[in-house]
Amino acid sequence: MSHFVLRCRGCGRILKDSYCAFCEHCKGSLVITEYTEPFKKEDKGLWGFNWLPVHHPSIHVGTPVVYKSEGLSEKLGLKNLYIVFSGYWPERNCLLRTCTFKEIEVATVIENAKENRINGFVVASAGNTARAFAYFSVITGFPVIIVVPLACLKEMWYVHENGNPATFVVIDGDYADAIDLSKRISEITGMPFEGGVKNPAKRDGLGSVLLSAVRVIGRLPEHYFQAVGSGAGAIGVYEMAERLIRERRFGTKLPRFHLVQNLPFVPMLRAWQRRSREISPEDVDPALIEKISTRVLSSRYPAYSVKGGIYDILETTEGQMYGVTNDEIYSSMELFAESEGIDIVPAGGAALAGLRQAVRYELVGNEDLILLHITGGGEERYKRDFRTYPVKPLFISKRSQKEEIEEALCTHLRS
Ligand SMILES: [Zn+2]
Repeated sequence: MSHFVLRCRGCGRILKDSYCAFCEHCKGSLVITEYTEPFKKEDKGLWGFNWLPVHHPSIHVGTPVVYKSEGLSEKLGLKNLYIVFSGYWPERNCLLRTCTFKEIEVATVIENAKENRINGFVVASAGNTARAFAYFSVITGFPVIIVVPLACLKEMWYVHENGNPATFVVIDGDYADAIDLSKRISEITGMPFEGGVKNPAKRDGLGSVLLSAVRVIGRLPEHYFQAVGSGAGAIGVYEMAERLIRERRFGTKLPRFHLVQNLPFVPMLRAWQRRSREISPEDVDPALIEKISTRVLSSRYPAYSVKGGIYDILETTEGQMYGVTNDEIYSSMELFAESEGIDIVPAGGAALAGLRQAVRYELVGNEDLILLHITGGGEERYKRDFRTYPVKPLFISKRSQKEEIEEALCTHLRS
């Protein structure tokens, strides 16, 4: 007997025998996992959580660290600021070797896929997800073809010297182009596309960050801060909050969601300012992406309008969207390093910059229980301890012509 079922958010139907299911009736709705057991917060790492859609996990994976802040807390004048840090920070026993929360997501996705007899994926990523897939591909032998935008290639590094696991394809375009190309590669190779935000295993893996926080704090926070790109992480956290509310043991009110984007590429902020469910095309102009420092937040197809997506979360939790400048991000990265003692990635800096605005405009109270998610960090710290290796792409696609891709992949797969 499985401890979960999949349910369509649109029509409420339970979907049978379905991996990464899509409801045939409700194209604009997410399918969510429904757990049939109460939440057990056993202190046994990630797989100690029974609210993950896997039965027999074997991958060794770390968890985020959750702690009550002192340094940053004092600087911001907040008495109940908790930090959930996903990255590499051995001093706090946080050992995510690819330095972001994507590692938890990908471990969950691969375990879930294996149980559903899926033997490999095509993945599109602007950075962190690719690194996490590459890492687990080495460790588990699970085959992956990864498509990344050229501008993100410098962020691609391996942690294993003798790993040549994942196949990297680079596209001279942005994240949306990478998604388009990976869908074509999926057609050519027959390997399924990883599914993005529609994959419930992905969202539950990401949402487990909230379970880690509740395990330490003992209750749900009043405010949750995170930077958003595709929105998948925030949706995963929201879905976990909904499940926890139903239990009533950890609080009865959903946290307010405070979500942050990097100016001037802020499509969800603009739509929310208009209180519109639709993102307008001029707000996802690729020229805007050139100007931001957080490439991982550059998704032009965010899960905003879909039922159960970011628009609904903002509306249900009386949430708030923020736009922060590159300078605010850099200064927040510095502030975090000074006050908490570890380097963080720009997306983490963006989340903190959003929190600083919230404090300035009194959108949070000094005594409020706040959870700040630093989605990645410790890259500099990691590179002091270990050597990393740059990725060698299989080929760089300029026009993403079907024949060109087919030829390169066939040659590669035969070798
Ligand atoms: Zn449905």
